[in-house]
Amino acid sequence: MMRPHLHRRRLLQAMLATLAGGALPAGAQQRVPIADMHSHYGMFSRFMSNSGLAAEMRKEGVAFIAWKLVPDARWTRRSAEGIYQSGTPGEGQLAARYTALLGEMKAYVADQKLRTVLTAADVDACLAGEAGIVLAAEGADFLEGRVENLQPAYAAGLRHLQLVHYIHTPVGDFQTAAPTHNRLSAMGLQLVEACNARGVLVDLSHSSGTAADQALDAARAPLVWSHGWVDSAQGTWQDRFGFLKRRLSLAHAKRIAAGGGVVGLWGLGLARPGLGWSVGRGDTRAYAQELANLVGRIGADHVALGTDIEGLGTDWSVNTYAHVREVIGHLESMNLGGATVEKIACGNYSRVLKAVLRS
Ligand SMILES: [Zn+2]
Repeated sequence: MMRPHLHRRRLLQAMLATLAGGALPAGAQQRVPIADMHSHYGMFSRFMSNSGLAAEMRKEGVAFIAWKLVPDARWTRRSAEGIYQSGTPGEGQLAARYTALLGEMKAYVADQKLRTVLTAADVDACLAGEAGIVLAAEGADFLEGRVENLQPAYAAGLRHLQLVHYIHTPVGDFQTAAPTHNRLSAMGLQLVEACNARGVLVDLSHSSGTAADQALDAARAPLVWSHGWVDSAQGTWQDRFGFLKRRLSLAHAKRIAAGGGVVGLWGLGLARPGLGWSVGRGDTRAYAQELANLVGRIGADHVALGTDIEGLGTDWSVNTYAHVREVIGHLESMNLGGATVEKIACGNYSRVLKAVLRS
């Protein structure tokens, strides 16, 4: 969990700065905005209606988040080895689930007067101080195998779409189960093209290595891998643990970067770090260090936050945007330079979104 002494120390620093300067600490006025490529805040471990998300975003200077609804969650289970498919949805059930969840999210957005990010101008308005939501889906299963269903989803506000998740789908193969297509399907390829044409950001996370390569071949706009981590090899469904299956290979990360895209690093915090992932539970400093390490491997223009808040069970290093602000504070103390911290905190996700969104 969070280390209380850290909070106390930061509070003390803020108080001392206030006493010394006779005004608010400079950071309180000019802090870098935060943008998160992958968040389930209020969806799994909190109730959305009283989650406090909107107030927390405003308090912590969060410009916008990709708020990822999870249509397939009802048909998955979590075990010690990871998340797996536990049931098969009937025809129309994924679409119905998507519609219901989207309705709840839009009601919250309206009630809390958050800005829905639909255009590049909305991105700028959020960077200038408003708090916004990018309506996003984790898995395109809800399209029920029909690319033409993307149009009504776009009309209803969807702007960031992850192709696959944890259940077998007509779209293509994913990292955590044996392949059935041995590729991205023809429908999956058409979906990448349709997203590019329509102005929806394509998110490759959870895709098998082969499916990711095919999406990268077909794409005519920058893509993201919103959450996960980068290792020398791509994870496979035969790996022992879920977090190993979810590895993105450095070669794939570099391909995403070469196309102008961005890789989001998740906030996974393991009780027993190791096997390549160094971040322990509640360890915001180690999360910041992993972000900095990834900058060294794929460049400052291609690393972003993809916290996966509420998507990691109890294995989290960050569970609130106050924790994420703490991560940014650690980055700021690392001599990376302000420009690099800004790119990680919000700049890179903003750039790809603006490249894809229509005005
Ligand atoms: Zn995920």
